[in-house]
Amino acid sequence: MTITRELKIKNTLSGEKEIFKPITEGKIGMYVCGPTVYSYVHMGNVRTFTSFDVIYRYLCYLGYKVRYVRNITDVGHLVGDVDEGEDKIAQKARLEQLEPMEVVQKYTNDFHDVMLTMNNIPPSIEPTATGHILEQIEWVQQIIKEGLAYEVNGSVYFDVLKYNSEHPYGELSGRKIEDLLSNTRELDGQSDKRNPLDFAIWKKAEPQHIMRWNSPWGEGFPGWHLECSVMSTKYLGETFDIHGGGMDLKFPHHECEIAQAVACCGTKPVNYWMHTNMLTMNGVKMSKSAGNSFLPNELFAGDHELLEQPYSPMTVRFFFLMSHYSSQVDFSNEALQAAEKGLKKMTTAYELLQNMNAESFTGSGDSETAKRIQNSCEMCHVKMCDDFNTPEMVAAMFDLCSVINSIENKQIKITDLDAGTFELLNNTFSGFLLDVMGIKIESDANDEGNEEAVNILMEVRGLLRAEKNYALSDLIRDKMAEAGIEVKDGKG
Ligand code: AMP
Ligand code: ZN
Repeated sequence: MTITRELKIKNTLSGEKEIFKPITEGKIGMYVCGPTVYSYVHMGNVRTFTSFDVIYRYLCYLGYKVRYVRNITDVGHLVGDVDEGEDKIAQKARLEQLEPMEVVQKYTNDFHDVMLTMNNIPPSIEPTATGHILEQIEWVQQIIKEGLAYEVNGSVYFDVLKYNSEHPYGELSGRKIEDLLSNTRELDGQSDKRNPLDFAIWKKAEPQHIMRWNSPWGEGFPGWHLECSVMSTKYLGETFDIHGGGMDLKFPHHECEIAQAVACCGTKPVNYWMHTNMLTMNGVKMSKSAGNSFLPNELFAGDHELLEQPYSPMTVRFFFLMSHYSSQVDFSNEALQAAEKGLKKMTTAYELLQNMNAESFTGSGDSETAKRIQNSCEMCHVKMCDDFNTPEMVAAMFDLCSVINSIENKQIKITDLDAGTFELLNNTFSGFLLDVMGIKIESDANDEGNEEAVNILMEVRGLLRAEKNYALSDLIRDKMAEAGIEVKDGKG
């Protein structure tokens, strides 16, 4: 399949919007840094993964065959994102009195549940860091062989200064080595590093460290940055198309990834780097450490002191889509309520569209109305092809909503447009709503299921009342009221 539309992507490496050219025609390799599974994902994390889900969806919609790799970090990410100290997973295992792999499983399960609830499509491959220890050891050996890493006391460090004498370090995040050097503290004599900018690619496991593997340098574990270099190139090739993550990962994580790959494979690993901006709370980045994060379930249940009401997963998804992935988004009840209204407009229009029939339109494809529809449909693509501009695509979709409403209330007559243009409207609106935006329409089947469940509860309650078990029947009534279903006891 030939893809005719020209797509532009803002490449963090150049700072420019560039015309996207895949390495292999019609195919795309995309890697996105996944979660560190030591706790529940918060809404900030969810924003980043949802942004890349929409990007993935649109690439597929354009007709590309995309191999989408998103990893699970289950070892090597140390508390504070530094090179010394406890592993985040191991720390949680100690606090929760679990095996590290139990921690990994528990929070991986939660992550998968949340992704599913948000209607994010699973990646093509979801590799784990612990599943690629051998490959990581091979990379460390190769980087040592290239003279760009050194071993001290069972740990191996990447030699940033030596690397920088041959290749620029700091290109991605726009940092200069002199500035980096003047901003880092002197080594305190305790460190094994030759230079404070050096980073660990393999760490010796101290006796209390529970996550450990044999290596040529003794028992240890891989450095955090290494896994993404190893797993992205293993599944996508030494150079691949797109690498994404939150902008907080630009430095040092992605900068180190580039250095490792150039050192090991002799080539730049990624053609297009993409970074999403942060979800904030009153302007402060949402994070576990700042204590200002919402868990998805708190948001969906309205179970948080800052929430005026619950917000459905699709409302939250729509709220994310209303901003560009590269803009900061501040969380607020007003913005979510606006998203709720906007989503309702979209889904209502979608339902109206299902009851319309292309054959009934008898007008011309040159009419004003037909041209308006053709233009707004085209705008959906034009905006998405312009660095995935979701808010402007949503604006074009709102225009299509107005058209659908006008057809419904007969302001637009069946003689005002032709069947072909109606088909275009139908395909574009449905395709962008369901496939690109990833909005899941709560189906009638679901409502029927709910109705059935309510009937069963009412029947049980009737039996309880007949037995004069008012405590339990009142409990059911109160719980149903909490869920928004009012039960009135009357005759029958
Ligand atoms: P972590 O599990 O901490 O490695 O983070 C997983 C992903 O979530 C990374 O791509 C982060 O950049 C991203 N992330 C973390 N906090 C936020 C936030 N407040 N808003 C958007 N993305 C975030
Ligand atoms: Zn990564």
